[in-house]
Amino acid sequence: MDFNQSYRSFVLALAQNQRIKHLVLTRGRKFARRFIAGDTLEEALQVVEALERDRIHAILDLLGEMVTSEAQARQFQREIIRLVQALGERPYPRYVALKLTQLGLDISEDLAFSLMEEILSEARQHDCFVRMDMEDSPRVDATLRMYRRLREAGFDNTGVVLQSYLKRTEQDLQALIPLKAPVRIVKGAYKEPPEVAFQDKRLVDAQFVLLCKKAMENGLYTAIASHDPQIIQEMKRWTAQMGIGPDRFEFQLLYGVRRDEQKKLAAEGYTVRAYVPYGTDWYPYFSRRIAERPENLLFVARSLIQG
Ligand code: FAD
Repeated sequence: MDFNQSYRSFVLALAQNQRIKHLVLTRGRKFARRFIAGDTLEEALQVVEALERDRIHAILDLLGEMVTSEAQARQFQREIIRLVQALGERPYPRYVALKLTQLGLDISEDLAFSLMEEILSEARQHDCFVRMDMEDSPRVDATLRMYRRLREAGFDNTGVVLQSYLKRTEQDLQALIPLKAPVRIVKGAYKEPPEVAFQDKRLVDAQFVLLCKKAMENGLYTAIASHDPQIIQEMKRWTAQMGIGPDRFEFQLLYGVRRDEQKKLAAEGYTVRAYVPYGTDWYPYFSRRIAERPENLLFVARSLIQG
């Protein structure tokens, strides 16, 4: 296992500790705001306006995952519909992201499906795209099944995410080609065992590039979701060489990460979207961001000490 994988595993395991969680929730809020737009939809919409001034579009994400009751899932769904309606009143491109476990996937796939149907119907009326984020490996099959089911039900305003660290992903991509599914390619943010995921960062990076190229060569609209300078450079070079125009792909980055790069890409004429999370359920998302970069752990430790 290389350093990056060991570090990620260490932080994600540490994040499960209840005392650490309490400490971060009470004292780490200020640092968390670097990655999270705010507690409320209204705060998130202010961030959208600021991004749009730099020609960066937003992907709004109401934070929440792994719900354990139907009531919670329905509550999240109502809030997501409120988000879609609020976006519908604004002149910017409309795009939201959600997690299926936020809509009760772990309780019942049928429940999550019926909540998704209502969200997508509302989104369709507002010309809004809804990306289903990809969660940890035990949920990949159910997420891909959901995508197929929604497509069969006539919804084309949704898409999935493929993680380059998973050994299965090339096959998953192959299966999505006949559907012309819009895909987002990411490296993957969860702690996954060597049986299912590559543990060597160089392999994960190489797979990322390979998947993006394969998706675009096969005509899938591709969101290249990475902050990695080498990957961004290679994708710019390759798309130019292949004559693949900016109408066939876009760059996606996270709010609070490499903001200068986001502005630069937008100024160069690429479509750029920033993933903007908001809401009070920020701890799991925040933990994954800390797990991506050792420096972030130092920042968070400092903010915990300083309060
Ligand atoms: P890395 O090699 O991790 O990082 C490259 C460089 O980017 C680093 O050297 C650093 O300069 C910068 N960087 C990266 N992360 C951070 C950070 N947290 N803080 C500060 N700087 C950083 N994962 C999923 O599993 N499922 C999803 O649905 C999903 N959706 C995503 C959507 C978007 C728009 C993005 C950008 C990422 C998403 N991810 C998702 C997360 C992804 O899997 C990676 O964990 C994350 O993007 C870090 O990988 P990287 O490609 O940026 O490369």
